[in-house]
Amino acid sequence: ETIGENLRRTAERVPEAEALVVPFQQRRFTYRQLWEETGLIARALMYRGVKKGDRVGIWAQNRFEWVVVQYASARIGAVLVNVNPAYREHELEYVVKQSELSTLLCSRSFRNADYLAMVRAVRLKVDTLRQVIVIDDEWGSLRADALRLSEEELARREKELQFDDPINIQYTSGTTGFPKGATLSHHNILNNGFFIGETLRYTERDRVCIPVPFYHCFGMVLANMACTTHGAAMVLPGESFDPATVMRTVQQERCTALYGVPTMFIAELDHPEFRSFDFSSLRTGIMAGSPCPVEVMKRVQKDMNMREVTICYGMTETSPVSTQSRPDDPLEKRVSTVGTIHPHTEIKIVDPATGKIVPRGVPGELCTRGYSVMLGYWNNPGATREAIDQARWMHTGDLATIDEDGYVKIVGRIKDMVLRGGENIFPREVEEFLYTLPAVADVQVIGVPDAKYGEELMAWVKLRPGYQATGEELRAFCKGKIATYKIPRYWKFCDGFPMTVTGKIQKYKMRELAIEELG
Ligand code: ATP
Ligand code: MG
Repeated sequence: ETIGENLRRTAERVPEAEALVVPFQQRRFTYRQLWEETGLIARALMYRGVKKGDRVGIWAQNRFEWVVVQYASARIGAVLVNVNPAYREHELEYVVKQSELSTLLCSRSFRNADYLAMVRAVRLKVDTLRQVIVIDDEWGSLRADALRLSEEELARREKELQFDDPINIQYTSGTTGFPKGATLSHHNILNNGFFIGETLRYTERDRVCIPVPFYHCFGMVLANMACTTHGAAMVLPGESFDPATVMRTVQQERCTALYGVPTMFIAELDHPEFRSFDFSSLRTGIMAGSPCPVEVMKRVQKDMNMREVTICYGMTETSPVSTQSRPDDPLEKRVSTVGTIHPHTEIKIVDPATGKIVPRGVPGELCTRGYSVMLGYWNNPGATREAIDQARWMHTGDLATIDEDGYVKIVGRIKDMVLRGGENIFPREVEEFLYTLPAVADVQVIGVPDAKYGEELMAWVKLRPGYQATGEELRAFCKGKIATYKIPRYWKFCDGFPMTVTGKIQKYKMRELAIEELG
């Protein structure tokens, strides 16, 4: 099945169910209307010369047009290229060239950045970029162009599509370096979204609040694909993340599910007006993207009424989800693990040096195989060969363990592991401990070079409002509770961390800053 065929089935099954709700743009679509709108934009893009396999970029924040373009482009077999809204001219140029974009849909501006000026500059340099469509101004003329191409022509195009055609180039978050473009098919992301919706037991009565960006798989697959395969509503709280707006939207739109990376949930829970919002409609949701602290999970379940909240683990390259906790898992497993393997995929944990499977409970590199593994990195066979081996296993670069019952724990990234005086330290473990301190709102631990031990630990601490602490006090608190070699030597107090737009903390940037500061 293709994404278009699946959307049509949903529109036939629940035509009057709400599909897309965007209060800040005053727009609401039922599934019947979403099917019609995506058909119009699909025809308009065909009329404007977009062929099957052409790369069509979208550079915009979360708004209704993004969703419509996502499905319209899938319906005509174009390859949608998600461009990060935080990008500036130099990065835009890279993506336009790297993916050989022929069409770019963009908004005028975002967060004071003039997108049009940057697009103009890039167009002068890259002549493969044939057309630019400004969605704020041209939506009406796109809909008018649609009528110049018959519905039959669209239907003919839809018949030519195969389930395993490339449909999407999604760039990774850029947490550990420059983003890589993963090429994904209908089959990849449609199935992944479907299984996510199954786990969360979505129906047309569900309303999912989506503060995570669409340009990333968390938004376009875990949210959009899970909703459209199940007839649930996508509810967009705003163009960029604001904790109070998210909570108000949940309350006003009676959302049943809420998504976020851990830092988003932390910002909501710690918001001064948190207690004034009504979460009684919430039931479930997803926390994912980076390590989900146990304390935060517990508070989300208790204080936000998200009894069935689940954790997902995955990566852009695997469509993305590989493991997910289930609403009926034992509480302890649900807060402390990333759940069990998703249907129709395999995972194994190997010693990164030898490639041999390690005993249960021993950390090693997580590898995964199955329908969800990407077709490859776009135009980068070398990187693809490094990531996916001959037997089709995707090597994730993540360290994990599996217990006897099949529950997976992410221990950290291979790149973030700290080697101090011969001891392997997983910063994640130290962070989990530091989260239990009352003064600590958020914390990240990194390794910094050290002449004597090779590496030393440094903790970056964001204090809870009204609390004070010194590094000495925090060290003293740790003494006797965790092994001495795991107690950070350096402490830095800060208001936040260098972050990707997906809300992920860029430890490589923290390391660079720390090295500069330590001299
Ligand atoms: P880049 O590959 O560009 O450095 P990235 O790996 O962060 O960035 P994504 O594909 O967005 O790009 O994220 C996938 C990674 O996020 C995983 O490899 C893993 O390290 C981390 N991750 C995802 N979910 C979880 C989770 N539930 N717990 C811990 N880590 C997670
Ligand atoms: Mg990655």
